[in-house]
Amino acid sequence: MTATASHDSARRARLTTSTPAQFLPGVGPGRAALLARLGIATLEDLLLHVPREYLDARRTVKVARIPGTGLVTVVARVDFVETRRSRGRSDLLARVSDDTGVLGVRWFGQGFLAKSIELGKTLALVGELAPGPGRSFVNPLFELLGEDAQAAGRILPRHPLTAGVGAQTMRRWVRAALDALRAELTAEDPLPAELRQELGLPGLAEAYEAVHFPESPEAAERGRKRLAFDELFLAQLVLVLRRRARAEISQALVTARGITRARAAIAALPFEPTGAQRRAVNEIVKDMKAPRAMHRMLVGDVGSGKTVVALLAAVCAAEAGFQACVMAPTEILAEQHFRTLSALGEAAGLVPALWTGSTGEAARRELRLRLRLPAGNPFALDLVVGTHALLEEEVPLPRLGLVVVDEQHRFGVRQRAQLAQKGSGFPDVLVMTATPIPRSLALAFLGDLDVTVLDERPKDRIPIVTRVVTEARREAVYRFLAEELTRGRQAYVVYPLIEESEKSELRAAKAMLANLAAHPVLASFKFGLLHGRMKPAEKEAVMADFVANRIQALVATTVIEVGVDVPNATVMIIEHPERFGLTQLHQLRGRVGRGTERSVCVLLEGPRSAPEARARLDLLASTDDGFRLAEEDLKTRGSGELWGARQTGLPALRVADLARDLDLVGRARAEAEARVAADPSLLSPSHARLRARLERLFGEELSWRATG
Ligand code: ADP
Ligand code: MG
Repeated sequence: MTATASHDSARRARLTTSTPAQFLPGVGPGRAALLARLGIATLEDLLLHVPREYLDARRTVKVARIPGTGLVTVVARVDFVETRRSRGRSDLLARVSDDTGVLGVRWFGQGFLAKSIELGKTLALVGELAPGPGRSFVNPLFELLGEDAQAAGRILPRHPLTAGVGAQTMRRWVRAALDALRAELTAEDPLPAELRQELGLPGLAEAYEAVHFPESPEAAERGRKRLAFDELFLAQLVLVLRRRARAEISQALVTARGITRARAAIAALPFEPTGAQRRAVNEIVKDMKAPRAMHRMLVGDVGSGKTVVALLAAVCAAEAGFQACVMAPTEILAEQHFRTLSALGEAAGLVPALWTGSTGEAARRELRLRLRLPAGNPFALDLVVGTHALLEEEVPLPRLGLVVVDEQHRFGVRQRAQLAQKGSGFPDVLVMTATPIPRSLALAFLGDLDVTVLDERPKDRIPIVTRVVTEARREAVYRFLAEELTRGRQAYVVYPLIEESEKSELRAAKAMLANLAAHPVLASFKFGLLHGRMKPAEKEAVMADFVANRIQALVATTVIEVGVDVPNATVMIIEHPERFGLTQLHQLRGRVGRGTERSVCVLLEGPRSAPEARARLDLLASTDDGFRLAEEDLKTRGSGELWGARQTGLPALRVADLARDLDLVGRARAEAEARVAADPSLLSPSHARLRARLERLFGEELSWRATG
């Protein structure tokens, strides 16, 4: 026997939760690659790959007994099936029957189902009678049953699948993993037994069993709750530990003292700050005056005026002798912040510098010199705006006191420590975001942040008119665009970019540009193109042309999503809005309506858009309340993409559903607080497994004690 072979068999002999999925009998490297597409690397990932829904085939009704309303399961044979194309969409139409009657079934936009739903096959269908004449189901869940209809009479888990891994295979693998790991799961359950009992939650092995192969819907829900609680509880522990560690930071700085300069700056503003802006500045400055490291988030819808708040905080820091830096996620945004802050800062006597990846060497040399000058020197720099490049070692910030992070992805413990090393202690951190955060998310993800909300818009804003139109109106949309451009206004035409298909989207955006520019009513206008693949200098040039109105209409991918501010732009046309979250569309819409003219946002719905998508777009058209839209996204799209991982560095939730589990978030938070208060480093024996689990999941992101 070779060394490798014995190694392999040893591995086969003992599967653990961290064993790569490929070692599960029957998987192997090829199919492990398929699982990887579903985010499954280890056997634990496989167990956490919980069903999206269940098909309850325990009690089925006969076709003739289907009630007028309510979900039911029927088992029936396919008598007729046909794919039909209309308006670029392919639908599957079928007729099924049992010994009592006939039922029509339509799957809109799912013509590909023809591959599995074939004549003569038996299906379990879960659906509800569609209104209108004729008995039919629209888009029901379905499961193909074998000849013997074995699956009927059970609750079938519906795991998310991928090409090459079918429902049966997935169930078989999950079954095998669960059987192999049961002993470990029981022995390593991270939840202290008494906590589990108190909350009435099942053990870990039992919970997985119930989630994947439930005896009843109630059992599945109990199991799911247990797994959801684990996720939330562990995340809360991390947040509570971080907060405690920050409270203990000994080198926290007092970064604000007086507000004389801030008062002068306010007086010099070209507008009156809103009440919300004043409150926000007060809260922030109070934090800055305290000898604690501030970690505050400023949440304000697009156009609510966050930049001014940041400027005033920076003015206070400067008055106390500190430097401030403003970090943006892209160069375009950094440059724009730089422009805005330059314009507003001049009157306040706070002139910013810009440092990004494309700052030239000569400019860097000068900036390095000036950044090192002591407060009060006429050439000293108290405010620097830039991208992540500011974190680099070569940027000296010896008097750094305040860090403002705008729409930043992943500004974590490490970045803060990196910046702390540049100055004389831990700077105060203000995170700004236009992503409205539903209360449940704020609790779940922002447990270590204080939150200030800008809930009031500058008064002179004229509401944006939003229209949802279909392809049939494209020509009319172009005529409208031409009219607005003729009146001297500017426009955005956005091709939202989907990451996986970036290349083809870019092609689409380029084709769009060519189309628009060649269209009879639009040919006389100047168009520009902006996309993520362009070099920073190219982007900057295009943006500068747009700002200066040398480009009248900007065809762009979502690189303009956050922050770009051109008050003369009054038209926003969004192609394929149905593919995106309402929050994202709302942010795009916020690019217009920034001046004194009425603005219009046109959502040009694609031909394959589903009726539910239309309902969401109509909601967007009817409200400009970002929080309301975020709540809706949370309900329909889940929390993962909305928030979470991007901003906090915590892993995305896989089981917990914040729209549903709000009560669990509260429990998890209270438990985490109580346990850390009683046992700050979780060293007691009853917390040993919990601590091990945290270490494994979060490693260096953990802060058992202050890092400073
Ligand atoms: P956001 O919160 O989306 O980042 P900005 O800070 O970019 O918003 O502000 C949007 C625009 O509104 C800017 O041109 C800014 O100068 C202006 N603005 C900010 N506050 C007020 C106010 N109180 N009244 C009028 N205009 C304001
Ligand atoms: Mg902004």
